[in-house]
Amino acid sequence: MLAEAGRHGEKAGLLIIALDHFKVVNDSLGHSIGDMVLKSIAERMKDTARQQDIVSRLGGDEFVVVLRNIKDSSDAGMAADRYKRVVAQEICAGHHRLINTSSIGISVFPDNGFDAETLIKNADAALYAAKEMGRNTWQFFTSDMNRKALERLTMENALRHALAEDQLYLEYQPQVEIATGRVVGAEALLRWRHPELGQVPPNTFIPIAENTGEIVRIGEWVLKSACAQAREWQCEGAPSLIISVNVSAVQFRHPLFLRTVDEVLKETGLGPEHLELEMTESQLMEHPEMMMVLLRQLREMGPGLAIDDFGIGYCGLSYLRQFQFSRLKIDQSFVRSVLVDPRDAALTAAIVNMARVLKMKVIAECVETAEQMKLLASIGCQEIQGYYFSRPVSAAVFAEKFLQRQHPGAYAWTNGLAAEMGPTPPAQVQ
Ligand code: C2E
Ligand code: MG
Ligand code: MG
Repeated sequence: MLAEAGRHGEKAGLLIIALDHFKVVNDSLGHSIGDMVLKSIAERMKDTARQQDIVSRLGGDEFVVVLRNIKDSSDAGMAADRYKRVVAQEICAGHHRLINTSSIGISVFPDNGFDAETLIKNADAALYAAKEMGRNTWQFFTSDMNRKALERLTMENALRHALAEDQLYLEYQPQVEIATGRVVGAEALLRWRHPELGQVPPNTFIPIAENTGEIVRIGEWVLKSACAQAREWQCEGAPSLIISVNVSAVQFRHPLFLRTVDEVLKETGLGPEHLELEMTESQLMEHPEMMMVLLRQLREMGPGLAIDDFGIGYCGLSYLRQFQFSRLKIDQSFVRSVLVDPRDAALTAAIVNMARVLKMKVIAECVETAEQMKLLASIGCQEIQGYYFSRPVSAAVFAEKFLQRQHPGAYAWTNGLAAEMGPTPPAQVQ
């Protein structure tokens, strides 16, 4: 078809159509319902196609439509719109009535490539962009996407070797009890230094590692290293320190995850009550029922579970009622505006109160100034973490700065505050 189009100077379009969150249909309603959905969407696509076009299924939830002889790229855009609409019509499968949205990537011959392989690769990059925009939309390929796709691929490959080549390491950021100035915990934060790419920020490489599944191996290494480090510090004289480890939902849902946690605790000799896992609100809510089962199993093993970045995602309050989280970590966006926006200050106070009623500890992240700390203390927040006290530092620096002089009153910077707040420190949560 491409050879013919080339000979006649015609354009052609290629759409890759992916159903949004189709996995959820399979996981929650079963594969036979999933199959029914795929078949009826395929039928509808065939009905929509012009006679000269090709409709096919690439595999999984991805379909490809080839549009023969289009006038210009806007024709491909209009076709994408049409397919998006037919996919989104209600489907009756078994006793269920379902509505599926789709994301679509578009490439055009000859503008975006001369052969099938390039056109598919480019439509795929456009599909990725459509998904990143929040799905339920379509995107044309642009050369910028090519650059991004290449960067992503380079990073994916580099990440596969990062562990074996010793490019990953951890930093630790102290968590401090405001009333006493004591360092009560440390959050382990993953770092990646690549010989050519340099220092890659975690917010860039962790989503990629989650996408490729590499996060499972990397996360296991993080857990092991952090627990071993915490145990070492305990043996050196910080018996009550709690180590916080960030966990991705991909990792948490892995069938061997709980067993890994158990093995790591046994191997390192760290008491389970000294480990806290952190997961963000939105990750917890991806598959809430399944998460709840896993959370209960984790609870029986002993480690705490904190909700990270609390307040910006969506977390059903009933969820908080059903499960005893050990801590809420107030998201940095609240902390940042707590002094400037009275509504954010009020919301932060409400979060702190809610946590107190539910017997959860609260910690504020990214506290950068004394004023922020004072305001947080005045509304009952017990703990802080942030540059005001310390940036994340290497294990050696952490031990030297925060563990060797660990006795009440060691830190003048909160002592004054404790005095200002009067003789009764904020209520302790059991
Ligand atoms: P997070 O868990 O919410 O970590 C807090 C982030 O805030 C860290 O960024 C920390 O360096 C930064 N931070 C701390 N205090 C301040 C402050 O006062 N001001 C400002 N502006 N920033 C502050 P970082 O290290 O870049 O990590 C980003 C995110 O990457 C983390 O957010 C976490 O979600 C993820 N992450 C880090 N390590 C791991 C890991 O081992 N596994 C997984 N799955 N995710 C990780
Ligand atoms: Mg965290
Ligand atoms: Mg956070």
